[in-house]
Amino acid sequence: MDWNRKLKCYARLISGFTLIGLHYRMKLNSKLNHSDDKNRHFPTFHLKTWRSIHCESLSEPISTESKTRINKSDQKALKSHYQYVICGAGTAAQSAVNTLSQLHSSENKDSDANTTTTSLLMIAPEWRNPYYNSPLIKNNTESNETEHNNDEVFAKNPTWDLVLGKSLKAVYADRNEIELESGELIQYDKLLIAVGAVVGIESIHSIHKLDETISHRVLGGHSHEEHALLLNEIEKKCLNNQKLHVTVVGGGWNGTLYASHLQALGCDVTLICYEPLPWSRYLPRFICEVLSKLLKAQGIELLPYSNVNYITQMKQNNPHDSQEHADLQVYFTWSYDSFALNSLRTDYLLFLPTNSPSCSGNLDGQFYLQSDPEVGGLLVNSELSAASDVYVAGDCASFPAVWAGERQRIQSNEHAEQSGLVAALNMYGSRKAYSSEPVRKVYYSALDVAILSIGKVSSLSETFCFFAKDGKTSDYTRGVIFYSDMKSNNVIGAVVLFDPMIDSPNVDSLRKLFDQPIDKRSFKDISQLEETLAPLARKVYTELHHANSEESDSLVFTYRRFFPREKGTKSNSRDDIV
Ligand SMILES: Cc1cc2nc3c(=O)[nH]c(=O)nc-3n(C[C@H](O)[C@H](O)[C@H](O)COP(=O)(O)OP(=O)(O)OC[C@H]3O[C@@H](n4cnc5c(N)ncnc54)[C@H](O)[C@@H]3O)c2cc1C
Repeated sequence: MDWNRKLKCYARLISGFTLIGLHYRMKLNSKLNHSDDKNRHFPTFHLKTWRSIHCESLSEPISTESKTRINKSDQKALKSHYQYVICGAGTAAQSAVNTLSQLHSSENKDSDANTTTTSLLMIAPEWRNPYYNSPLIKNNTESNETEHNNDEVFAKNPTWDLVLGKSLKAVYADRNEIELESGELIQYDKLLIAVGAVVGIESIHSIHKLDETISHRVLGGHSHEEHALLLNEIEKKCLNNQKLHVTVVGGGWNGTLYASHLQALGCDVTLICYEPLPWSRYLPRFICEVLSKLLKAQGIELLPYSNVNYITQMKQNNPHDSQEHADLQVYFTWSYDSFALNSLRTDYLLFLPTNSPSCSGNLDGQFYLQSDPEVGGLLVNSELSAASDVYVAGDCASFPAVWAGERQRIQSNEHAEQSGLVAALNMYGSRKAYSSEPVRKVYYSALDVAILSIGKVSSLSETFCFFAKDGKTSDYTRGVIFYSDMKSNNVIGAVVLFDPMIDSPNVDSLRKLFDQPIDKRSFKDISQLEETLAPLARKVYTELHHANSEESDSLVFTYRRFFPREKGTKSNSRDDIV
């Protein structure tokens, strides 16, 4: 064959492959775009502005008055040695300090001494009182007590010091010493690391290039206090009838919660998530569809399969005055087509995906502590100890969860509280194993549903779903879902969808589920397992709602078994009355 013919042959082959590639790409695009919105089919390698909205002028900087609630001059000087050192002033740390205070006061009662002679240091970088409930948690009550008055604890124990504006830099576990960012070295007898988790946005480098007038409107990589300040600012503006557009990134518990909350306050909200639907990582697909419809009905714009790439600031002339103002321009790509770059304009951008632990970056390795490469956080044993005399609690601990048969890192208020308590008991001298099954409650008041999860809740598990039909609420928004792990065959998690008016749900029988895990293999067939789960679901649901037996008997439950990614099977497409 001469060269000319060879080249022609290659050219034909290449164009053939290109055409086949284009054909499949178009097919994939149309498959993944569930919406009938034509704008979503973009030509590749093309920048498309999603839409341009009018954003209000927000150029005044965020108020920081509540940041300095603690008088800096009241600070105590650091000593070189403490019996207990607690790093962090969040839920887990506060729970540990309260427990230690109780233990020492009962010890003093026994010995007739009035005050404790132990020394304790609590440090945190933020200038505010330690909190017991994170200021970010929204529940259905108006007055959410977030700040625990710890003055009492420190007043009762004059040798205990709360020193703010200090952060932990390194732990030298071999010589019972920590180093602070400000350079001080402090000796400890027992150390607790409870430094929480932050949103990791390092991958979005352009954030650091935004100037100060606008960077405060991007939330991510901050502490709970800074989150709360920004959210308060947005809430205040909404209450003053300022029309704002907020883009929330993250389709998990936090993203969906804040999207719904801010839309209810009057903001226009766009929710960006990487997954096919919000909640996709936790709930069976058909429930995600129902809840997503509720979000859309609330007015929230959903952008699934999306990924934020970078952010710039756009100058615009406000039509109402002659001044120039800046908006945020958010650039994002589809997860199935990273060449189709789209953008939207917004007033605020809130990153609320699952947070990564604050500590693993700089506390592990050479400092004798080790981080978990899979779930993040510092590795601890069942007594929450990471090394001799070093304990870890809350969002930053990767602990062996007996009920799940694997390590877990849990981000829930109850887990922070319980693990702080157990860590404190062990610092005091106990050898208590942490075996709690923490509950996480999320109140979506605007959607008329609250979701409580316990154990390991993953949409990759097989689920057995029991829904209460009350004729008043949307289908599938009241009920109990049991999660069965494919590896261990045990029921390892549960979700309850319940009435958001229930302030303190009773979860006693739900917790019992983990005392004696239900093993799928101990049943002759699946119908036997279903017969065991059906009355349990009824019991859990009615007990949680504090309902009496009459109310319980009158409830009708429908049942659905759901296999991830399995379509069209009988049990997947039909509801049975149980
Ligand atoms: C937006 C959002 C909404 C949430 N909603 C819910 C909900 O509805 N229900 C629920 O159960 N949970 C919710 N959570 C999770 C819950 O708030 C956390 O799991 C809980 O607060 C964790 O407590 P913690 O003590 O481990 O960490 P944190 O409360 O984060 O406290 C960490 C402390 O450590 C300090 N610190 C950080 N770095 C250092 C350092 N190097 N040295 C010293 N101190 C340091 C911080 O300043 C802070 O004081 C939500 C979380 C977020 C982000």
